[in-house]
Amino acid sequence: MDYPEVQLLIGGKWRAAAAGRTIPVLNPATEEVIGHVARVEIADLDAALTAAKTGFALWRDISAFERAKVLRRAGDLLRERLERIASLMTFEQGKPLAEARIEVLAAADTLDWFAEESRRAYGRVVPARAPNITNLVLKEPVGPVAAFSPWNFPLNQIVRKLGAALAAGCSIIVKAPEETPASPAELIRALADAGVPAGVVNLVYGVPAEISEYLIPHEIIRKISFTGSTPVGKQLAALAGKYMKRITMELGGHAPALVFDDADIETAVKLLAAAKFRNAGQVCTAPTRFLVQRNVYGAFVDRFVAAAQALKIGDGLLPETQLGPLANSRRVEAMDAFIADAIGQGAELCTGGARIGNKGYFFAPTVLANVPLSARVMNEEPFGPLALVNSFADLDEALAEANRLPYGLASYAFTRSAAVSSALAARLEAGMLGINQTQIAWPEFPFGGVKESGYGREGGSEAIQDYLVTKLVTQAAN
Ligand code: NAD
Repeated sequence: MDYPEVQLLIGGKWRAAAAGRTIPVLNPATEEVIGHVARVEIADLDAALTAAKTGFALWRDISAFERAKVLRRAGDLLRERLERIASLMTFEQGKPLAEARIEVLAAADTLDWFAEESRRAYGRVVPARAPNITNLVLKEPVGPVAAFSPWNFPLNQIVRKLGAALAAGCSIIVKAPEETPASPAELIRALADAGVPAGVVNLVYGVPAEISEYLIPHEIIRKISFTGSTPVGKQLAALAGKYMKRITMELGGHAPALVFDDADIETAVKLLAAAKFRNAGQVCTAPTRFLVQRNVYGAFVDRFVAAAQALKIGDGLLPETQLGPLANSRRVEAMDAFIADAIGQGAELCTGGARIGNKGYFFAPTVLANVPLSARVMNEEPFGPLALVNSFADLDEALAEANRLPYGLASYAFTRSAAVSSALAARLEAGMLGINQTQIAWPEFPFGGVKESGYGREGGSEAIQDYLVTKLVTQAAN
C-alpha cells in the first residue's frame, strides 16, 4: 500500500522540517522502510510556539458551541476515512486491522465526548456575605498545551489530550510518535479539515528529548501532557515542576488480574486473554500479573495457555490475523531478556517464549507460571505478549501482591462474591478496576493511575478540568 511522506502542521500549513531532515519509518511486520517523517529543528518549534500563541488567542474566544461543532465534524471525518487511516496504522504499527479500525472509531467517539464536554465547562456562583455582592467562579482555558504521545495507540493516546484541550479552549502542539506518524497525522488532518483555525493544532515530530526540553520550559506553554514510561514521565514531571507547569502524566502499569475460585473461569479466561494479547500486549492497562486462587489455578492455566496457542499470528493487514508483530525491535529484545531472567530464576514456561521467524518483530504469545517475585518481569512493565500466572490462598494474600508494586493503573478481578468485590473496590491501589469485565477505557470513564502510574485523568468529566484554570471574580454592585 502507499504510505505518505509525513509532514508537520504548523500555523495551518503542512510542510517539511525547516532543514529538510527526516526519520525513516518501518513496517514492523517486514522491517522494511515504508516512508519518512519530518524531523523538526528549533526553528520549527519556534514557529509552532508562535502559532500556538496566536491560535490560543483565537480559539479561546470562539464559543463552546462552535468548538463543539468543529470537534463533532472532525469525528465524522474520521468515520468517513476509517479504512484509509486504519490501514496506515496497521502498516506502521503492526496491530491487526480490526483493532486499528476500533481505534479510529474510538477516536471519533472521544471527539464526540469532548464536544459535549466543551458545553459543560461550568463555573459556579458562591453565596455572598452581603446583598450587593456577586461571587463568580469562572473556568478558563489554561493556555497553549504541549502533548507527547507514544506509538502503541497512535490515535488514541493523542485524541484524549487533543479532545480535552480543544474542548477547554486551549491550543496545542502535539509531538506525535515518530515510529507511527502517518495515522496520527490523519487525526490532525481531520481536525484541520473540520475547521479548526490555523495555529490551534500544531503537529511536530523529531527527537523526543530535544522537543520536550525546549517546549516544557518555554513561556508560551502552560500545560504538559505525557503518555509513556514511568522513568521518562518522572524526568518530564521534574522539568515541568521546575517551571511550575501543570501536567497530566499517563505512565506505565503492571495490572494485577485476580481470579477467585467462585468466578466464571471460562469468561475470565476469554476476557483476560483478549485483554492480554490485544495490540500484542503493548498496552499500559494490559493484565500482566494473573493471580489465581489455588483451587482453580490449574484449570485457569490450562485454559489460558490454550487461548494463547489458538491465536492466529501474522501481518496485521491479513484479515485472519489476531496477533500482529511487536511494534519495534526494542520490544523483542525486552521480551527475550524478561523471559530468560524469569526462567533462570525458576519460572515455568507454559507456552511461547521466543521470537517467531527472523523477519518482522513477531513474538509468540507467552505464558509463564509460578514466577518468583524477584524476577525482573514481576517488577517492571513487560509491554508485550507475556502473561505471568501465580497462585494465591486468600483475599489478603491476593491484595498484598496486587498492591506490592509502585504501579497503580488498571486492575481486574473475577469473582461472584459481592463481599470480595467491595473489599477490592476499597483496597486495591489502582486508578481503574474492572470486575468481571475488562472494558475500562470508554471516553466517559476517568482514565488514569495512582502511585507511579501518574496523575490526572484522560476521560470522564474529570478530563477537561486538567485543561481549565479557576478564576474567582467577586463584585460589589455600586
Ligand atoms: P521510552 O521509555 O524511551 O519511550 C516511551 C515514550 O516516551 C515514547 O513515545 C518516546 O517517544 C517518549 N519519550 C522518550 N523520552 C522522551 C523525552 N525525553 N521527552 C519526551 N518524550 C520522550 O521507550 P519505548 O521503547 O518507546 O517504550 C518502552 C516503554 O515505554 C514500554 O516498556 C512501556 O513501559 C512504556 N510505554 C508506555 C506507554 C503507555 O501507554 N503508557 C506507551 C508506550 C510505551
